[in-house]
Amino acid sequence: MLPIKFDYAAPENLAAAAKLLHENQQARILAGGHSLLTAIKSGLISPSLLIDLKKIPNLQDIKLPQETGGILQIGGMTTYDQVATSSEVQKNYQALAEAANSIGDPQIRNWGRMGDIFAYRDLACDLLAVALVLEATFHLTSANNSRVITADDFISLGIQTQWQIPEILTSIDFPAPISRSGSAYEFLKHPASGYVICGIAVLVELSANDVVDKCSVAVTGATSYPLRLSQLAHRMQGKAPTPKNIATAANLARESITTAQVSNQELTIVADRYASSEYRHHMIGVLTQRALTRALKQTQIP
Ligand SMILES: Cc1cc2nc3c(=O)[nH]c(=O)nc-3n(C[C@H](O)[C@H](O)[C@H](O)COP(=O)(O)OP(=O)(O)OC[C@H]3O[C@@H](n4cnc5c(N)ncnc54)[C@H](O)[C@@H]3O)c2cc1C
Repeated sequence: MLPIKFDYAAPENLAAAAKLLHENQQARILAGGHSLLTAIKSGLISPSLLIDLKKIPNLQDIKLPQETGGILQIGGMTTYDQVATSSEVQKNYQALAEAANSIGDPQIRNWGRMGDIFAYRDLACDLLAVALVLEATFHLTSANNSRVITADDFISLGIQTQWQIPEILTSIDFPAPISRSGSAYEFLKHPASGYVICGIAVLVELSANDVVDKCSVAVTGATSYPLRLSQLAHRMQGKAPTPKNIATAANLARESITTAQVSNQELTIVADRYASSEYRHHMIGVLTQRALTRALKQTQIP
């Protein structure tokens, strides 16, 4: 049972939705409703109006790089299942396909929408780590403005505003991968809730002379905020992709996490009844090693 009364609107275009959001400070965007309705039922929030985006055209599309001039564009109302089963995503954005496919169960993936990335005040979100390493950009619209921000800025904005962002996420864009690149998402899930205990997303690019040109690693779930491990990226540059160097990178991932900061906020390693901070810290290294090994395999020219 829903303990409060609220109005409902299903506008047919983005401008009308943005106007409603602007005019009603207590309004909330309704995507699939999984997180939102749970929050209403448990009394965490009491919105006066739900603005359902389902009738707005183009928000539920995946536009392929061939159609957009090189960008993979995922609409805010696209389901996780659409992303996980897209052949383009599976072929060229493996980390994204793997993270989308790891979310919840088939019902959650069939109904949950990409725009729900806004919901994550607890930040145990699989997709934000992938957005960081694949250098996604977020397209936001409000009544007065439209803007594009990077994944790093999106996370900082979320931390600063407690994710109360009075804007509509219209799409998330991913740049085309270069030819000798690979990505992977490795994760450890809570067996009951399915939420991520530790998730590691990796993107690697190899140069023509077979050394690492770029190595981007991000962690989610294990830390208070998802973050990119920048020190590791610098230290891996120019290194040969050998098992020894991968093991070194995994150790570095563990070391660099202890000094990392996001948006000037101290970072803590999460501890709960299921997994201690020491265990999560250890898993950061284990999962980095696995993800790097798999991502590097994709860089091999057949
Ligand atoms: C059983 C269960 C298991 C789960 N497991 C995982 C997991 O393993 N990994 C994981 O990452 N998540 C997990 N989740 C979370 C899941 O991803 C979300 O609950 C679900 O996808 C919510 O999506 P939704 O489309 O239903 O969003 P809604 O509930 O409709 O919206 C959630 C919030 O996002 C805002 N919002 C949604 N779309 C937009 C938009 N386009 N613009 C602006 N604001 C928007 C809404 O206003 C609301 O505040 C799990 C959830 C459940 C219930």
